This record gives sequence, structure tokens and C-alpha cells, in this order.
Amino acid sequence: METDLFIAGKWVPASSGNRFDVLDPATGDVVASVADGGESDAIAAVDAAAEAGPAWAATPPRVRSEALRRAWELMTERADDLAKLISLENGKALVDAKGEVTYAAEFFRWFAEEAVRGAGELNTAPSGANRILVTRQPVGVCVLVTPWNFPAAMATRKIGPALAAGCTVVLKPASDTPLTALAMAAILAEAGVPSGVVNVLPSRSSGKTVGRMLKDPRVRKLSFTGSTEVGRILLAQAAEGVINTSMELGGNAPFVVFADADLDAAIEGAMIAKMRNGGEACTAANRFYVEASVAADFSQRLASRMSQLKVGPGTDESTQVGPLVNEDTVAKVDSLVQGALESGAKAETGGSRPEGAGFYYPPTVLTGVAPDAAILREEIFGPVAPIVTFTGEDEAVRLANDTEYGLVAYVYTGDLARGLRVSERIEAGMVGLNRGLVSDPAAPFGGVKQSGIGREGGHEGLLEYLESKYIAVNW
Ligand code: NAP
Repeated sequence: METDLFIAGKWVPASSGNRFDVLDPATGDVVASVADGGESDAIAAVDAAAEAGPAWAATPPRVRSEALRRAWELMTERADDLAKLISLENGKALVDAKGEVTYAAEFFRWFAEEAVRGAGELNTAPSGANRILVTRQPVGVCVLVTPWNFPAAMATRKIGPALAAGCTVVLKPASDTPLTALAMAAILAEAGVPSGVVNVLPSRSSGKTVGRMLKDPRVRKLSFTGSTEVGRILLAQAAEGVINTSMELGGNAPFVVFADADLDAAIEGAMIAKMRNGGEACTAANRFYVEASVAADFSQRLASRMSQLKVGPGTDESTQVGPLVNEDTVAKVDSLVQGALESGAKAETGGSRPEGAGFYYPPTVLTGVAPDAAILREEIFGPVAPIVTFTGEDEAVRLANDTEYGLVAYVYTGDLARGLRVSERIEAGMVGLNRGLVSDPAAPFGGVKQSGIGREGGHEGLLEYLESKYIAVNW
């Protein structure tokens, strides 16, 4: 496959000639080397996007839609190959990688359908003096920055609506997983997206390349998915040029189980909310709050299910949990677990890093976790479930809201009125009510508090790439 930068429809080496290695997390071995874009390459990519902008914005929505639809078809036809590529560079189990390809492709299909629905409005001013005409226009050149945990889906969730709206883009993928982004660029070109509309810039010097692009007045939008820490830096940089931003940041999802819940359903939901993507998801259940009277039963059943999962190389068909993405991630997970154990928690299963090659961590369930443990405050981003008990609705809501994050929460109860009441009281952009999975291209995905600004997916995802223009009309 191509491993150079993709700028103005061409595969080009970095102007410095530099390249960087991509590792297989299962072995630590090098699987490919990729061109390492620098600041001048970043500006070349913005040049290409700016040049392609007016023609793409003027392209009929139906034509833009059909290119996206074709990209969905191509991704679907090549799902197995794309899944292997994701698994190879990210480490996730093939079953998760296949799930990601379907989910990622669906953003192209969804936004192919939304591309023809950027409708404006016409109204009469309250005074009756004039008409209020609102049209929607593409924001312009967009810089898209994505993380390594869903290398395909986080890219399509941005490229889909941007292209549907008539914007052109420069995608800066995570350095751990640039190959999937380059494969997506090839698919979009094959689907008929014109040169310069989508540019992909792998870069190890993300701070410099993204910072340089944000200084360019032609860039009118930044859409970022990643950590809250980097999101804060980019928000400050975007403020300089008053650049429109969408921020999909970190999460610290509570998973609340009331005593009246269907425990079988709660365990199934917990396995998905915790273990999808090996726990490396912003939506991953990070803190389990279980009502005291069912806590022992829930913990024992969850530990039993977690201990049966098969851990191994992601590319092995029988693997259910692959390695984590890199050494830093596995070291962080282990340090959070060891910290919790030192403060009195008990490992019902897992709890220590295995010897040997690869960035593996075993599925782990911790009980008796101290309320102030770091593992309840920080994103774990690994296959670890800390369990804390509570009594009553008010305590559950207080614990769930005791975080700076607000991306998603999960609530299990047999009482629908309580479920809806608690869903309204929890400070989160999304709630899974008796459900362990919320991600859906047709729904608005995003967080409140320090989990972000804006929404991706649904109709709202398209509006993030459109500016409203109001024309006061007399006729
Ligand atoms: P990250 O360290 O914040 O990196 C995300 C992206 O930003 C990468 O492309 C990275 O490039 C780039 N980057 C890093 N420092 C930068 C800087 N100073 N200026 C410009 N760009 C910079 O996050 P990650 O570790 O890849 O991903 C995990 C995080 O993403 C978690 O916090 C997770 O919750 C969050 N996430 C959120 C959502 C959501 O929808 N809310 C979805 C998925 C993931 P390099 O790879 O080159 O460093």
C-alpha cells in the first residue's frame, strides 16, 4: 500500500525526506515506514485544500453524495482487508476491527444521505417588513486531527460530513496508526472525490504541523478527536484565529447498575461497554457503580466473564482481546491498577502485567476500590473494570457526576421512569439506558463538560461543517 503523504491527489514523500516507523503492538516489530510530514508539507496540503474548495463547494450535493456512497461501497467490499490493516497497526482483535470498518463505512453512507439535506429556511420578519432568508454554506478548509483508537471511524466521522457539506480537508492521523488513514485516502480517490478535496498528512511532529495549519487564515475549521489535554492546547491555538472548532475529547463513563436491573442484561451490557475495542474507547465504561445489595453477585459474574476472554494477537481470528496500542498505554493502565491495589482494592481477576513481548494487559475486575483512587478519576483506556458500591438514586447520581468529564453514561434499571429520571440528571452528552453501546452514525455523538464541544453524526454532524448565512430580503 501507499505510505507517502497524500496531497493534491498525489502520493508524495515528505519534503524533508523523513519517514517514521509503524509498529505491530502484538510484537513491537516494525510493519511499515511512513512519510513524516513537516510544516511545509502541511502548508502544501492546505494549499491543495484551498484550491479545491470553490469547485467542491459548487459541486451539486447529489454528486458529492454519490462519491460518499461509492466510498461506503468500496469500504464494505474491502472490509476484511481494512480490518486486517487496523488490527495490524492498532492491535485490536479482528472482531473489533471488523466492527470498526462497518461502523466507519456507515458514516459515509449516512452522510451521503445527509449531503442533500443541508436545507436553509425562509421566514417573515416579525414586523412584516422583510423576509429572513437563511442559507447554509460550507465552512471552508477543515483540519481534522484523529486518535489511534478508532483509526478508520474517527476519520470517516469527520470526512463524511465535511465532504457532504462541501468542505475540503487535511487529515492529520495519529502517528501510531497512519496506515488506515492512507488507505481511506486511496478509497476516497477511487470513489471519485476530486484531487485536493481530501489530503492526508501523517506527521510525528503533530504540534508543529497542526499549529502551523491553524495559523493559516485559509483554515476555517478544526475538528479534533483525542485527549482533553491536547484538546485544551488546540482550543487555545484555534482562539488566535477565531477558528470554528469541534472537540471530541476524553471520557470517564459511569456504568450504574440499580438493584432492580435485569442482571443478565447488565452483565452483557458491561462486557460491551467495557471490552469493545479492548477498553481503548472514549465511550468505555470506566467506573462501575453497583447498588450494594447486588454488588457481590454482579462483581463475581463480571469477573467470571472477563476471565474467560481469550487474549492474543489481534490478527488471530480466535482472539477476543488484543494487545494495547503501545508501551506507554500499557504502563499507564498497570500503574492505575497497582495504585488501586495498594489502596486496598482486590483483583477478582487479572491485575498484573504478563511477562513477554507485546503490549498485553489481562482483563481485570477490581472490587473494594477507594472512592478517591486515581483509577476512578482518569481514563483507564484498557480492559480494567473498577467496581464501587452505592445505595439509592441520589448517591448513584452524585458519584456518576463526580468527574470533570461528561461524554457518556450507562444506566441499568428495571424501572423505566427511574431510568429516564437518572438519565436526565447525569451530566453526559449521551446515555445508554439498559444498553452498553451508544455509538450510531445516525445519532448525535459528543460530550459535555471537559469531554468536548459539538456533535458528530446525525443531522447535527453535518451542521458542524456549515455556516448559516442570513440575507434580509425585500421583494
Ligand atoms: P491524543 O494524544 O490527544 O492525540 C490525538 C491526536 O492529536 C493524534 O493525532 C496526535 O498526534 C495529535 N496531537 C498530539 N499532540 C498534539 C499537539 N500538541 N498538537 C496537535 N496535535 C496533537 O489522543 P490519543 O492518545 O491519540 O487518543 C486517545 C484519546 O482520544 C482519549 O482521551 C480518548 O478518550 C479520546 N477519544 C475521544 C473520542 C470522542 O469522540 N470523544 C473518540 C475517540 C478517542 P500523534 O499521534 O502524532 O501524537
